[in-house]
This record gives sequence, structure tokens and C-alpha cells, in this order.
Amino acid sequence: MGRKRKEKDGIFDRIGEEVNLEKCPECSEHPDCFCHHNGKCTALNACGGQGCVFYKPTEKALEEGRAAYRKLKEAKRHDLIQRYIKAYTALGFLDEEIKAADKKIKEFEAFRHTDFRKLMTQVPGFS
Ligand code: SF4
Repeated sequence: MGRKRKEKDGIFDRIGEEVNLEKCPECSEHPDCFCHHNGKCTALNACGGQGCVFYKPTEKALEEGRAAYRKLKEAKRHDLIQRYIKAYTALGFLDEEIKAADKKIKEFEAFRHTDFRKLMTQVPGFS
């Protein structure tokens, strides 16, 4: 899920922010939480415990995030998409679009190296 980080070493949370796990509080209550990473909470300064109000299972958080991204796209709120692009990219919400853009770039590259003039001479009636 999401883009691979080739250029940086380090530990990143799910939205692509680098985290120092040594400074993160332990959270043993909700290992399925979206913010949970190696036994630590990457979002809060202090663990919220069993009744943590910020607890959200990862799948639910991803589902809600995808829905929010879709709504922003439908509303053409590119300003807000731009604001959260790093997180959306890290979460993999743009994977299909990035793949499609890569494909288009390859097609344009192939087209750029095509002898367009020679091809046009093969079209009947074109001189
Ligand atoms: S947000 Fe709350 S439940 Fe989730 S990892 Fe942090 S402390 Fe644990």
C-alpha cells in the first residue's frame, strides 16, 4: 500500500511522517489502531488507554480516508487534496492514478520517438 520510500531510512507512520518511536508512548490496548506502530502510539503524547477516544481500527480509518479523498475529488477541491497529498500518497489512495500517469508518460515517450512524418505519409490521401 502506498508509495515506497526509497530515498529515506527511518521510521514513518502511516501518513508518511517520520517518527521517533523512542519518544512515542506505549499502547498495549489497541494494537489494531491506525496510529499503532511496534507497540507505540505515533499520534499522541500520552497513551489514551482502553477508552482512548482517538482509537480507530486501521481498516475503518483507511475506508474513511478513501471516502474523504473521493469526496474531495468529486468536489474538485484540489486545494485541499494538495494540502493532504503527502498523507494520501503514503496511504496509497493515489496508487491507481500514479500508475495511470506512469503509463501515459511511457506512451508519450514512445510517441516522442516515433517518426510521425513517416507515419503520416502512409495515410491515404495525406501528402
Ligand atoms: S490513538 Fe489511542 S488507541 Fe490508538 S495507538 Fe494511540 S493511544 Fe493507542
